[in-house]
Amino acid sequence: SPLKIVVVGSVAAGTSAAAKARRNSETARITVYERDRDISYSGCGLPYFVGGEVETIDELTPRDAAWFKARYDVDVRTGHEVVAVDAAAQSVTVRDLATGNTFDDTYDELILATGVRSVVPPLPGVDLPGVFRVRTPSDARAIRAWVEERPVRRAVVIGAGYIGLEMTEQLTERGVEVTVVEALEHAMPRMDVDMSARVDAELRKHDVDLRLGARVAAIEGGESGVTGVRVGSADDGDTVPADLVIVSVGVRPNLELAEQAGVTIGPTGAIAVDRQGRTDVAHVWAVGDVAESFNLITGEPAWVPLGSTANKMGRITGDAATGGTLEHRGILGTSIVRVFDVAVAQTGLTEDQARAAGYDVEVLHNIKPDRPEYLGGESLLIKAVADRGSGRLLGAQAIGASGADKRIDVLATAITYGADVADLFHLDLAYSPTYATTKDPVHYTGMALD
Ligand code: FAD
Repeated sequence: SPLKIVVVGSVAAGTSAAAKARRNSETARITVYERDRDISYSGCGLPYFVGGEVETIDELTPRDAAWFKARYDVDVRTGHEVVAVDAAAQSVTVRDLATGNTFDDTYDELILATGVRSVVPPLPGVDLPGVFRVRTPSDARAIRAWVEERPVRRAVVIGAGYIGLEMTEQLTERGVEVTVVEALEHAMPRMDVDMSARVDAELRKHDVDLRLGARVAAIEGGESGVTGVRVGSADDGDTVPADLVIVSVGVRPNLELAEQAGVTIGPTGAIAVDRQGRTDVAHVWAVGDVAESFNLITGEPAWVPLGSTANKMGRITGDAATGGTLEHRGILGTSIVRVFDVAVAQTGLTEDQARAAGYDVEVLHNIKPDRPEYLGGESLLIKAVADRGSGRLLGAQAIGASGADKRIDVLATAITYGADVADLFHLDLAYSPTYATTKDPVHYTGMALD
């Protein structure tokens, strides 16, 4: 009988796995269960729908179950939650959320792509109307409706990671005054302090009230909605007025099914998998944000939940589950976020991470225009981190009004292929004054040790 693949979760990783499995096998029976109503959406675009830069949510959810059936002959069952796994019997129990009925389905290969959920801190008032997370199109629809249906003048964003900052930018652009409350000492706390301090400055330049090293004690309000956020302790703090609160303090893997199946969870708290996405339970695989990856430089387990990685992991496991040989090569956690007028990007190890991993670290900074000033070039700051002994490039961070995106990708590529700092100077990069300088900022990084 044909190979029967069941996928749980239908956003980035689950849909890539299903699509690749179908490309490899014309005969496999592929079913995807998704408890939500939206599938295969761009979670990464949600802040821009809230801000209005993306006009309709349909633009972020271009594919539905009918599209998958027609294009890939994959059965996507939305509104269906997998509530149990019996790995010995190779079966799952599924609840149809519309009817409440449950049924069992069997599999030859089970791919868990259950993703993450937003962390909701146990704060008084966290369930008040007007307090939102940003995870799904439903969240984004609710936030946009909230800001369009009432005069929202002030918002508090709790958490200054990239999602909090994207929301801050988009709400500010809607004319909302935003206060950001971050428990750590800087915005973008995954970056090195010398870089994240510049993100703080950019936020303040745009009149964001940035409260660093600050804690939310409670969210205040009543039935008609949130009215403020108490920052600091109950007896020593102040209440920031707010008619909208965004909680963006991080995410956690949805591990319930994995735990039921008896799968080992790795040291990062996500599902441990091999380079093809296999867990340690036979015929159970895990992909995307719910699964652990490994750092391309150190080889250590790493968990950086990103859509870019989720897509790759899905494709690799879709291939492997149908007999293919694709293998995951590890991650650098390469990422980028627009914060008002600058792009903030990073790849590989930060200085702090490199030191923690035991490297004798060399730090190289340069600030160069991304193009000649006569064509509007603006300064681009690159911080590179290298191993002093070997010169090997370990990581880079870049902040600038333009051109940070391509430099970070060049640097990520160089790190992937094991480049030394000095190798960067020799890269044959494209030059025209409309796009770059004769010696590119990446070349200057490569000259820093001369
Ligand atoms: P998820 O997207 O979490 O999907 C998992 C799905 O599984 C969910 O739909 C869930 O309902 C379903 N599910 C879970 N349990 C069950 C069950 N028992 N039964 C049935 N269904 C179940 N990444 C980037 O790389 N760049 C960005 O710029 C970026 N921006 C982002 C901005 C925002 C606002 C958000 C929220 C995320 C952003 N990301 C970004 C991250 C990216 O969206 C995620 O990495 C990606 O969605 C992960 O895909 P996934 O398929 O692994 O998991």
